[in-house]
Order: sequence, then structure tokens, then C-alpha cells
Amino acid sequence: MKNLSLLGSTGSIGQSTLSLCESYPDRFRPIALAAGSNVEVAFAQCERWRPELISMATEELADELTKRLVGAGIGGVDVVYGTAGTVRAATLAGADFVVSAIVGVAGLEATYAAVLSGKTVGLANKECLVAAGDLILAAAREHNVDLLPIDSEHNAIHQCLRGGTAAEVKQIWLTASGGPFRNTPMEEFERITPAQALKHPTWVMGQRITIDSATMLNKGLEIIEACRLFNLPPERVKVTVHPQSTIHSLVEYIDGSILAQISVTDMRLPILYALSWPERIAVEGKTPLTFDLGALSQLDFQQPDMARFPCLRLAYEAAGASQNHCIALNASDEIAVEAFLGGTLSFNGIARTIERVLALTPSGSPASIREVLAVDAQSRDLARQVVASTL
Ligand code: NAD
Ligand code: MG
Repeated sequence: MKNLSLLGSTGSIGQSTLSLCESYPDRFRPIALAAGSNVEVAFAQCERWRPELISMATEELADELTKRLVGAGIGGVDVVYGTAGTVRAATLAGADFVVSAIVGVAGLEATYAAVLSGKTVGLANKECLVAAGDLILAAAREHNVDLLPIDSEHNAIHQCLRGGTAAEVKQIWLTASGGPFRNTPMEEFERITPAQALKHPTWVMGQRITIDSATMLNKGLEIIEACRLFNLPPERVKVTVHPQSTIHSLVEYIDGSILAQISVTDMRLPILYALSWPERIAVEGKTPLTFDLGALSQLDFQQPDMARFPCLRLAYEAAGASQNHCIALNASDEIAVEAFLGGTLSFNGIARTIERVLALTPSGSPASIREVLAVDAQSRDLARQVVASTL
């Protein structure tokens, strides 16, 4: 039995993870949850799973949840809140495995704390690797911690890397669906609405990552995530647009062999791989995760169009510039996406905001998580100013 701490339990990855706990009750049990701000769902999760501890985003939300639990006669759940609460969830003594699935840099401190306390970590939260990948990887080496990627592309690469040694890898290929605007005329981009951008062709995910997929900044973050996880320079991390999202990524070896990972477009598969690693668990009869090879008719690959998707170019530039630029890339995007969803920034304004913030960011390499968070906060302020100046 693996006891899980699930950070971001009310989100898309969080709920997929809990669905696996339902399917495999004798293998995985959530004992700590960090649930953010959805009290309704947090309450239902406490009712179902009776975790030892649950963290809410704020004290008010924690009080509200406590009242609901008392009213329903549910005891034994320690309700905590804020970053300190998330850190407690991530480091709970009885937890063996931490699923890091809070969205954004909000998940950084807890993920880092989980590594420091020696927990195995399944990483969905790519933003923490973009902002502080070097620090997290160094801590993982020092504490002998396994970091298992849940992001589907990196999970695919992790699987394909079982086929050779690091010295035998020529480069890796991240696949990208191209998002909903792969074929939209560029003159229409300025008028793209949040409702249009929130319709992803192949994946159902949280709001921010869905918008990031539409701008392809998500692939940009994934390039940096891959550089950190697999210790590769950006020029050895390539992107290919593969609209079917059937191949989740590929590893090209020096002998010319390319290994690809194919599976259904369902995040439960990479989550299950991470949770059960180094084993593989049979899914037949449990979850419909088997892939029908007979139904596969076509696999297309295209070069990504950097003019159409400037966020991809900006991510390569940030990766080649400095760690401060990677932090600024993510932070400015978090602000820009929020403004786009709130109707105060155009779709093209997202890339323009990031480009402006990157241009104003001095090179640097923070030596601690505290320094990372300081650069993150400065970048957010800058991004807010840039957004306000375009109103
Ligand atoms: P989501 O928006 O559905 O869920 C986010 C979760 O984070 C929620 O539980 C929310 O309550 C919590 N949260 C947000 N701010 C918080 C805060 N300040 N404190 C505590 N909790 C907070 O997002 P998602 O789609 O599940 O994505 C989660 C992470 O996984 C992201 O980093 C995303 O890039 C990554 N990811 C998601 C998918 C996917 O298919 N959804 C695929 C690959 C990677
Ligand atoms: Mg991905």
C-alpha cells in the first residue's frame, strides 16, 4: 500500500489521481490533501477518503471546511491552510509518495519540502521545475529522491529512456497537439476569446494549462522542464507538432533509432505509471486505458510555426538566457493568462507581455527557493505593469 499526499486534489490531475485510488484501493490511499479553494469538493473528498490532513488556500476556507466537517460528524481530519499547510501535507510522516499537482509557482515550496523530506515525488506541476529545476534536482540527488514525471510528454520520455543510456541519447522530441488554433488564420488571433481558447482539441485540463496549450507556451514550459529533468541543453530538446496526440513523445538515439510511447490521451496512464514505478500495473478490467492499435489510421508530424506561436520562441530564448528568464517566463505568463481570462488582455497580448517582461529581466541564477520566489514576485509586478499599460 502506498500512502499518498495529493497536492492539488480538487484539480484535473488531482481528481484523476483519486479515480486511480478508487480503482486500486489495495495499492493507493490518499492520506493528505491540499485542496486550494473549492470547499465543496474538498468536503466531498474528506467524506470519501477521511484523510489525516487537508490544507485549504486560506484560513477562512479552512474554517468553512471545518464547520462543514463538524456538522457532518466527520472527525480526525486536521484542517490546515496556506503555504505552511501545503508544506505540512507534502511532508506528512506517513506519506510515501507526493503527487505535486498544484497549478503554478504556488506549488513550489511544498514540492521542494517533499523532496527535502525524502518523499518520492510524482511531478505534474511543471512550473516548479521551470522556476527552480536546478535546486529541486540538486535536492533530489542529495536526498536520494526519485522524481517521476506525470506530464505526459516527460512521462513518455522517461519510459523511452529505459531503452538506452544517457550517453546514447542524441536528442528528445516533445510532441505538441498544436492546440485549437493550429490552422486559424493569424489575422484572427487578436480576436480570439477565452471561450475559444478553452476548447482543447485532445485533452481536458485546468484553465491555465489549456490557455498555455493554445499559445503553445505550455510546450515552451515543457522544453525547460525536460532540460531540467533529463539534464539536456535546449538545443537537444525538439518539438514536433503531432495533432493526433497519439505519440506522447520520442527519444532519438545516436544509432538512429527513435523510440516512441503510444497510449490513450488520458492522464490516468502517466499518473499510474509514476505511482507504480518501477513496476507496471495491469489496467485490464480496471480502467479503460488500453489503446486500440487497429483504430490508428494516421500519424502526422509538422514543424512548429514560431511566427504563429511566439511563446515557443520566447521559451527557447529564456532557456538559453538564464534561470531568472525562465522564472520570468512562467510568472509573466501566469499574470497574462489571468488577464486574458478576465477580459483585460488580448490573446496576442499574452506573448507580448511575456516578451516585454523577458526584455526587462536581468540575467541571474537564484541560489535558494527564497531567491526564486523574489524573482518570481518581481516578474509578476512587471507583468502587471505591462498589462496595465496596454489597457
Ligand atoms: P487545475 O486548475 O485543474 O487544478 C489546480 C489545483 O491546484 C486545484 O486543486 C487548486 O485548488 C490547486 N491550487 C491552485 N492554487 C493553489 C494555492 N495557492 N494553494 C493550494 N492549492 C492551489 O490544474 P490541472 O490541470 O490539474 O494542473 C495541475 C498541474 O499539473 C499544473 O502544473 C499543470 O501544468 C500540470 N499538468 C496538468 C495536466 C492535465 O492534464 N491537467 C497535464 C500535464 C501537466
Ligand atoms: Mg504535457
